[in-house]
Amino acid sequence: MKNPLSAEILSVGTELLLGNTTNTDAKDISVYLSELGINVFYHTVVGDNPERLKSAVSIARNRADIIITTGGLGPTCDDLTKQVLASAFGLELIFHEELAEEMRRYFRETIGTNSMTENNLQQAYLPEGCTIFHNEWGTAPGCAFESDGVHVIMLPGPPRECNAMFKTCAEPYLRALSDDVIFSRNLHIVGRGESSVEQQLRPMMSELTNPTLAPYAKEGELMLRVTAKAKTAAEAEALTLPVVERLKAELGDVIYGIDAESLEQVVLERLKEGSMKLCTAESCTGGMIAKRITDLKGASEVFLGGAVTYSEESKIKVLGVDPSTIAAHGVVSIETAMEMAECARELFGADIALSTTGLAGPEGDGSHPVGTVFVALATESETYITQLSGGFGRSRVRNFASSCALDMARRYLEGLPVIVEYFKK
Ligand code: ATP
Repeated sequence: MKNPLSAEILSVGTELLLGNTTNTDAKDISVYLSELGINVFYHTVVGDNPERLKSAVSIARNRADIIITTGGLGPTCDDLTKQVLASAFGLELIFHEELAEEMRRYFRETIGTNSMTENNLQQAYLPEGCTIFHNEWGTAPGCAFESDGVHVIMLPGPPRECNAMFKTCAEPYLRALSDDVIFSRNLHIVGRGESSVEQQLRPMMSELTNPTLAPYAKEGELMLRVTAKAKTAAEAEALTLPVVERLKAELGDVIYGIDAESLEQVVLERLKEGSMKLCTAESCTGGMIAKRITDLKGASEVFLGGAVTYSEESKIKVLGVDPSTIAAHGVVSIETAMEMAECARELFGADIALSTTGLAGPEGDGSHPVGTVFVALATESETYITQLSGGFGRSRVRNFASSCALDMARRYLEGLPVIVEYFKK
C-alpha cells in the first residue's frame, strides 16, 4: 500500500449529531492513528440512517485508504453499520456461532443472566472473510476487511470498548499493513502557547518529512511529537535523535520532560531525588495543585499537606497571614501570595511551599483584571513570586495557575531560574 496511509473516521450515531454525546471516539482514534503515522484527513459524523450512511461510505471510500467506523454495531434496530458497510462493498453477512457463544457467556458471567434476548444474535453476523475483533469489554464484536483497496475497520461506539478494541485489535491490524516500524518521542512543554511555539518551529516542521514534527495542545501545556518510520525500531529511534536535540536547543528548559507522564510526576520525582517535602496554600486553584500531586502513587513520600484558604479569614486564621498585609495590599497581591507560601511552609514544616491567590473570574474585583494570579514558592531562604495574567475562562485560569506553580517547583528543584518571562502571558 502507498505510504503514508490516509484514514477517515466515520462516526455513526444520531446522538452525536444532536449534541447529546461528544465524539470522543474520533478524537481518541485520531491520536492513536497519528502515533501509527497514519494521516487522518476527515472525520465524518452520520446519524442512524441507512441512506445517509451509505452516501457517507461512498464518499469516504473514494478519498481514504482506511475507513474506521464507530458505533451502530449493537443489537437494536437502529444499529445498521455492518449491514450498510457490507452491502456497500458487496459482502454477505455471515453468522458466527463462536461469537454467539461468546455473547451468551458474557451475559451469563458479566451480566448474570442466562436469558439473552434473540436480537443480540444480530451481533454475531459479520461480513464474509473479515478479521473478527473479539469484544472482551461488551457484546458487539468489531471487524476489519479489505475490499477494492480500501481497509474498513468497524468498532463499537461505547468509548471504553472502542478504545480497548482499537488498541488490542485494530492497531495490530493496521501495523501489519506496513513493513515500517513507527517510533515517537513526546516532548512536554509548559508555559508556552501552541501558536508561539508553532511560529518558532514552523520552518523546521515544514522541512521535516521523516521524522515528522507535530504540536498537540493540552490545557495549560503543549506536547511536541517527533515521529519516525523505518524498517527497525532502532533505525526509527535513531532518526528522532537529532530532531529531539534540535528542539532542546531551540526551546531550552521550557521542556519539562521527554516521554514524561505529567508535570506533577516530574515534580514528584525531583522531590524524591532531593529528599524534599512539599506543601501548598491555595486560594483560586482550590486544591488543584494538591490534587495533581496526590493523584500520583508515592505522593505521601513528598507531600506533607495543603490548605485551601479561599477567604481572607481563612488565610489569616489557618495560615497565619498578617491581616495588615491583606489590608495594605489586598488579598490578590504579591505580598499576600508570598506570605501565604511562607506561612504554609512553617505550618507544615515543608522544604518548599507553593501558594496561589488570584481572580479566576468571571467577575473581577476592580483592582486587577480577571485572570490575574499570583503564584509564590517559598523555600527556607527565599520566596519567589510570579504574576500570571490573561487567560480565558475560569477553568483555564485555574489550570494554568496550577501548572505554573508546579513548574516553578520543577524549575527550583532542577536548579533553573525559578521565574521566567513566559509565565506572564
Ligand atoms: P452497543 O449498542 O453494544 O452499545 P454500538 O456499537 O451499537 O454498541 P452505539 O449504540 O452506536 O454503539 O453507541 C452506544 C453508546 O456509545 C452511545 O449511547 C454513546 O453514549 C456512546 N458512543 C457512541 N459513539 C460514540 C462516539 N463516537 N464517541 C463517544 N461516545 C460514543
